[in-house]
Amino acid sequence: MARVYNFSAGPAVLPVPVLERARNEMLDYQGSGMSVMEMSHRSKVYMAIIAEAEALLRELMGIPANYKVLFLQGGATLQFAMVPMNLVADSTTPVDYILTGMWAQKAAKEAAKFAKVQVAASSESTNFNRIPQQAELNLDPKACYVHMTSNNTIFGTEFNYVPETGDVPLVADMSSNILSRPVDVSRYGILYAGAQKNLGPSGVTVVIIRDDLVGRTAAKLPTMMDYKPQVENGSMLNTPPTYAIYILGLVLQWVKEAGGVAAIEARNIRKANRLYQAIDSSSFYRNPNEPESRSRMNVPFTLAKPDLEKTFLAEAKVAGLVTLEGHRSVGGMRASIYNAMPEEGVEALVAFMQDFEKRHA
Ligand code: PMP
Repeated sequence: MARVYNFSAGPAVLPVPVLERARNEMLDYQGSGMSVMEMSHRSKVYMAIIAEAEALLRELMGIPANYKVLFLQGGATLQFAMVPMNLVADSTTPVDYILTGMWAQKAAKEAAKFAKVQVAASSESTNFNRIPQQAELNLDPKACYVHMTSNNTIFGTEFNYVPETGDVPLVADMSSNILSRPVDVSRYGILYAGAQKNLGPSGVTVVIIRDDLVGRTAAKLPTMMDYKPQVENGSMLNTPPTYAIYILGLVLQWVKEAGGVAAIEARNIRKANRLYQAIDSSSFYRNPNEPESRSRMNVPFTLAKPDLEKTFLAEAKVAGLVTLEGHRSVGGMRASIYNAMPEEGVEALVAFMQDFEKRHA
C-alpha cells in the first residue's frame, strides 16, 4: 500500500496513527463488540468518547470554564447563519465583518439576511493578498459583534494578530487554522471550525462559545440552530455525528502526544518557512501575498509559465504529491500543509518543485 502526500485543502490528510487506530478499533471498539459507528450515542461507552473529545479540546486549547463546547452539524457554513441568528436583535442590528477572502464574504452575505452588515475592512481591492492591520479596522462600538476569518483557505492569508474589539465580542471562523497555533480563547466571543482540515473528518463542526452569548436572542429559532438547547443538551439534541467526533478525539490525542499545540506550531512554522523560502528563492514560482500576511496552512503559488500547470500537476501526481491544484476560483497551485502533513511531505514537494524547475525553466 502506498500513501501519497495529500495537499488537499479539505477534507485533508489525517495522521496515520489515527487512521491505524481507527482501523484497529473498527470491528470491536474496546471490547464493546461493535464499531463506534454502530453504537447508540446515548450508550455509556459513547458518552465517554464525546466527553473525552471535549476534555482534550479544552486541555489543548486552554478553553476557560465559562466557555461551552459544541459538536454540531451543517459545517462552518451553517455557523455563518447561526451566529447572527443567535446574537442579533433584528435586521437593523449592526454587525462588523472583516473581509479577507471568499469565506468571509460568504459569511457576511449570510449575515445580511439577519443583520445590518458593515464592512470593517476589506482587502478585496488587492485580490485579498493581505490581512488588514488593526489601524485599518473601522470598528463600530455599537456593533453586536465583529466577525473575522482567521485563515483564508483559498487566498492563503492568515491573521497574525487578534483584532482588539473592546467590549464587542469577536467571532472567528477558524476552520482552516484551528489547533495549528496557540489561541487565547478568552479574546473571542465565539470560535467555530469545520473539522475537516485540522481536527478530523467532515461532518462535525466545533463551536466554542462564551456562556453569556448563549440564549441572547428572543427570536424563535429552529431548535437545531439555537445554541441554547444545543448547550443544554450537550450537543445531543438529536443524534450527533458520532463517528466524526470519535475520529476528532483520536486526532486530539495525537496532537497531545505530539507535544500539544505549541509543538505542532513549531513544526508548522518550519514547514511553512521551508516552502515559502523555496518559492521566494526561485523566479519560476511565485506567491502573491504580502509576507506578513502569509498563511502557514495554505500556500498558493503560480508558475512563471502558466501553460505548464497541467504538466506540473501530472508529474507531481506520479511523484506521489496530490491535490495541488488551486481553488477553482483563483487557479494556480495551492499546497495545504495542515497539522497532519509531515515535514517529509513538504520536503518531497520542495524537491519536486526544484527538479521540475530545472527541467522546465
Ligand atoms: N470557512 C473556511 C475558512 C473554509 O475554508 C471553509 C471550507 N473550505 C468553510 C468556511 C466552509 O466549511 P464547511 O464546508 O464546513 O461549511
